[in-house]
Amino acid sequence: MSFIDLHCHSYYSDGSLGPKDLLKRATERGVKVLALTDHDTTDGLAEAQEIADKLDLMLINGVELSCRHQSRDFHVVGLNIDPDNKTLQSGLARLKAIRQERATSMREKFSDRGLDDVNKRACELAHKGQLTRTHFALALIECGYCHDMQQAFKGWLGHGKSCYVQAQWAEMAEAIAWINEAGGQAILAHPQRYKLTRTRLLRLLSDFRELGGQGLEVSCGNISPQALDASASLARETGLLASVGSDFHHPDRPWNELGRLKPLPEDLKPVWNAWNLPDNVDTDLQVSV
Ligand code: AMP
Ligand code: MN
Ligand code: MN
Ligand code: MN
Repeated sequence: MSFIDLHCHSYYSDGSLGPKDLLKRATERGVKVLALTDHDTTDGLAEAQEIADKLDLMLINGVELSCRHQSRDFHVVGLNIDPDNKTLQSGLARLKAIRQERATSMREKFSDRGLDDVNKRACELAHKGQLTRTHFALALIECGYCHDMQQAFKGWLGHGKSCYVQAQWAEMAEAIAWINEAGGQAILAHPQRYKLTRTRLLRLLSDFRELGGQGLEVSCGNISPQALDASASLARETGLLASVGSDFHHPDRPWNELGRLKPLPEDLKPVWNAWNLPDNVDTDLQVSV
């Protein structure tokens, strides 16, 4: 298990746990430093901080922004952001409005297909935050239209599928600027999930760096040794800092468990090197899973 996990979700976006259960679960798994990085919202951070203060856990204020670059979707994680920053909050308000508009279009598509039960359940599941595709996927499963998330995305929700609606998220340049203005570090999330060749990823990361991006996730939840090597090589070649994050959403997905992360190769520069970590944190405690 890793002492540090810099990417996870609560029910303020598409995770199923509230901050209390999430942080408890993290500490039970030996995580000492945790970033809560909900999609396009910082709404869970104050509640999470109150809980972290009572636990032996350092909370990093985080967020995961949905954005676009050259007409493709990417996720950028912001770490150590000031949630009260006005520029960041006005950016988040814009993303929330885009998300809401997309959810309305998606609901129309489900409704046209006679799937009002899915709409109803998805809205119930998203009670604390806004509707994400994860909520529609969980509703499709619960209503008996498919067996798992993979089927839900392949059949309905994935890019180009019947209930997919393209959202015009912020530009990547804007997302990075909002994070930097809020005093945070911008990290490209899960680089191996975008289905880009190494050449294209290098081009993306070169743009990302020029725009003020500081790091990329090298060790992600459930990553294969080959994908970890590929990301490590990207970090070496670009000189970007390396981050680690499980992308935990639900307790029933053990492969994305909190703190369940392969260690970073030793020659990489971890994003937390310049942070003031608490004395009780043993940074060598990054052992293989
Ligand atoms: P959204 O931000 O509403 O477009 O939803 C994106 C979220 O859907 C991601 O953050 C993942 O949590 C989830 N997701 C996307 N693709 C898949 C997939 N193939 N299987 C399971 N979850 C997925
Ligand atoms: Mn998600
Ligand atoms: Mn993501
Ligand atoms: Mn995520």
